[in-house]
Amino acid sequence: MSTIREVKQRIGIVELVSEYVALQKSGRNLKGLCPFHSEKHASFFVFPEQQTWHCFGACGTGGDILSFVMKKEGVEFGEALRLLAEKAGVSLRPRERPDRVTEERDELFEINEAATEYYHHLLLSAKVGEGARGYLAGRGMTSEIVKEFRLGFSPDSWDTMKKYLLGKGYEEKRIVEAGLVIEKEAGGSYDRFRNRLMFPISDIRGRITGFGARALDDASPKYMNSPQTPVFDKSSILYGIDRAKSAIRKNDFVIIVEGYTDVITAYQSGWQNVVGSMGTALTDKQMANIKGLTNNITLALDADLAGEEATLRGRAVLAHSNAEAEVILLPSGKDPDQVIREDQALWAKLVEQAVPIMDFAFQSVIGKLDISRARDKSLAIQKLLPSIHEMRDPAQRFHYVDKLARALKMERSDLEAALHRLKNADKKPRAAKPVEQPSLARRLVSSPIEEHCLALLLRYPELGPLAGELSSEHFQCTENREVFDGWRDSPDVSVLQSRLDDSLTEHLCYLVDRTFPPGIGEDERKRSSELEYCILRLSERATRRCEAEKEAVLEAERERGGVKSELTKLEEQGIGSGQQLQEVFIKKGGKKWIQPRERT
Ligand SMILES: [Zn+2]
Repeated sequence: MSTIREVKQRIGIVELVSEYVALQKSGRNLKGLCPFHSEKHASFFVFPEQQTWHCFGACGTGGDILSFVMKKEGVEFGEALRLLAEKAGVSLRPRERPDRVTEERDELFEINEAATEYYHHLLLSAKVGEGARGYLAGRGMTSEIVKEFRLGFSPDSWDTMKKYLLGKGYEEKRIVEAGLVIEKEAGGSYDRFRNRLMFPISDIRGRITGFGARALDDASPKYMNSPQTPVFDKSSILYGIDRAKSAIRKNDFVIIVEGYTDVITAYQSGWQNVVGSMGTALTDKQMANIKGLTNNITLALDADLAGEEATLRGRAVLAHSNAEAEVILLPSGKDPDQVIREDQALWAKLVEQAVPIMDFAFQSVIGKLDISRARDKSLAIQKLLPSIHEMRDPAQRFHYVDKLARALKMERSDLEAALHRLKNADKKPRAAKPVEQPSLARRLVSSPIEEHCLALLLRYPELGPLAGELSSEHFQCTENREVFDGWRDSPDVSVLQSRLDDSLTEHLCYLVDRTFPPGIGEDERKRSSELEYCILRLSERATRRCEAEKEAVLEAERERGGVKSELTKLEEQGIGSGQQLQEVFIKKGGKKWIQPRERT
């Protein structure tokens, strides 16, 4: 059993809280004067069945024994656990598997690093790399830039890399996990990348997470990447961010291009604040890399495709940039790599003439439509309104709603209403699930549903965006709440671990190692629906908990008598949340609610 569980099992909430608060019975529960704020009327409740506490007064918070000690003693999680462990006579074991999660990930980074070095060596000096060297020279890439970006070459062989890495002492299964070698169903394995130009991809800290690879013959696909691995998540990568970050910060703006060579060529020409999006739509996770570096984002788009793309790609950008995001319009059919190689002055001019992304989207969407027709009008709304909806700045939103209304010759209020509907659709009301029987009295030493939910988020980073409606309030166990809060700030497990208190490492390892029902690992859709189910269950549970607590408080008040009619009125109105319960107690502070014996 984990230390946290053992401590929780040995120390009951009533026994603990009683040391600080004089508790009196109130139905099945206990209540007393809140130890965290000053009050005359007891609004602090302890629920022995759930092993939780809640203050319905000014604090409005609650939790388990750990959060109680954290709040009461003003200490962090680790210290609270140490205090409780001492009290329970549980010795805090030295961690059995120190930093195992980090170690495993570090080994993948190490394998990628070794592969990068080897590919790079083959490109620079091996006979087999001649063709690739010729290709780069033909594209005007200097050897300095090849070295700067550590480009490489994977030879046309089934086992060169595999043999090299095995020779360095790495286990085959770890090499497979790093994505460099593919396992055959019939057994055995072979090199993933063959006869390709290799682009090592780094995270913002410069650690190699995976590779992009361009075919040097007519192999298909022309470009391929490492598969999803514990350290490589394509949807969160911005190619070149590790090299570009200081230039982005210094110039306070970033240019987002598409390909590897766009980034490299720009860098070679002195544009170091350029990163590659590696694909079509920009994701929130990619934008998170830029957060903190700059708010000024410029997308380089091909003029031919730009109209559609600006509306599609712009959404994540708009949601993340305070300032207006802008678009660089490239000459038709050309990518930045070509433009810069042909005419650096033209590129500089294009950057200077960048236009606000929404203005451009308007122009290109409305320009193609006949807005006197109802169908085209609604098409324009469909394409443009979601982007307006994403804008963070209300003044900008106002401006563009106005602009759209004028362009379409519509009433502003109609568009406002449509915008409102989009907002509500975002909140996604969930279908009611059959209500479960409340569980029997048990000590809340752990919560499988909380753990399952966290394990999914930790193991499959791509699920992150689905967890938007989760809040720390959904987690009753303090250890889970701590992990959740940490995860929200840094989803990367190794970063997360380094930020969490040491006492949580064991719990984090346990979460990361949790086994999933069959099929979850292979099926992305199954994973998303599993997470959605968890979130639904956690929300239901929070609501039920609220209901039960409300009931307990009402019951206690009924016993006290004298306020029956007020309570009935409240019950009729339906008190549904802690917030409303808080109001009950705030009201109680008024004359009407104070019992005579409590008057001083
Ligand atoms: Zn309180």
